[in-house]
Amino acid sequence: MASPKIFITRPIPDSVLVQIQDECDVDMWHTSAILPPIAEKIPPLDGLMTYGHEPVTAEMFDTSPNLKVVSVVGVGYDHVDEDAARERGIALGHTPGVLSDTTADMTWALLLASARNVVPAHNHVQVEKQWHYYDPNILWGYDVHHSTIGIVGMGRIGYAVAKRALAFDMKVLYYKRNRRHDWEEELGIEYTELDHLLNVSDFVTLHVPLTDETTRMIGKAEFDLMKSTAILINIARGPVVDHDALYNALKDGQIAGAALDVTEPEPINTDHPLLDLDNLIIAPHLGSATIQTRMKMATMAMENLFAGLKGERLPYGVVQPPE
Ligand code: NAP
Repeated sequence: MASPKIFITRPIPDSVLVQIQDECDVDMWHTSAILPPIAEKIPPLDGLMTYGHEPVTAEMFDTSPNLKVVSVVGVGYDHVDEDAARERGIALGHTPGVLSDTTADMTWALLLASARNVVPAHNHVQVEKQWHYYDPNILWGYDVHHSTIGIVGMGRIGYAVAKRALAFDMKVLYYKRNRRHDWEEELGIEYTELDHLLNVSDFVTLHVPLTDETTRMIGKAEFDLMKSTAILINIARGPVVDHDALYNALKDGQIAGAALDVTEPEPINTDHPLLDLDNLIIAPHLGSATIQTRMKMATMAMENLFAGLKGERLPYGVVQPPE
């Protein structure tokens, strides 16, 4: 019997790749160039592993009538047409949980860097070579300890962010659609409506999935509610924040700063006006990018892929194969 045909949209670790190659006929997108629409790139497939966020569409499914499984290397699957997969009996898997602590760590890296001017400090000393004497009056930041953090979208990653906030003696507020009394009791955190959270938080971190409801969830009206000393961290998905409104809020001093791990589009255009702001840090979507976590994600995605190809339940499934 012919081996199943698989396409992988970005290089995955070799130790995982060889295991897939043992069982499948694998084509993998190797170049650093932007991947063309998947439907244009590939012949009919049995399995697709997406590493990156190129749209996986109904049109693509229709060019691959034998497609059994889409395995996302990552937790967010907003780039995949879930309804179209469900209608066609295509299984969909992702890698939840394994990256929560790592993404929470990156949230804190961005939060601390923004609050304490780590990037401008680096630029001052190493890029501009301007450290000529001790100046006590430059680069004052904001205290993180004993401040208030507002966590929007308190799920696996939000929970891990909240746990870290407690070590900084912070007051932790959170917002999601379904309240978690158990987490409130366990961590001593407070549920609040979004408007109040935005109004009183010193740091606002975003961890919602990208859906119709969360698209542009943070725009002009929301920036109007925030403190002029507040810092926004978006490590969810770019379109959750209205970038024009963010630009105006940062430029006009309506908020003090922001850090983005995700943008719209990705990569952000090199002439985008946001890139000229000195109260903004942008990272190229690094939330889960550690050696240990990326290995685990690739392994989980492989397990989903193999299960889907056999028509078995995916260990980490969003859409399971038909019974
Ligand atoms: P999760 O456990 O599903 O948590 C998401 C939370 O968002 C849930 O608690 C959900 O609670 C809440 N939520 C959903 N819709 C909402 C809405 N309309 N308003 C308010 N809250 C809403 O997911 P996770 O594992 O923490 O991951 C969250 C997202 O982070 C992923 O979907 C992905 O896009 C992003 N992410 C980014 C990176 C990166 O590298 N930058 C890495 C990993 C994940 P309710 O249903 O109760 O509202």
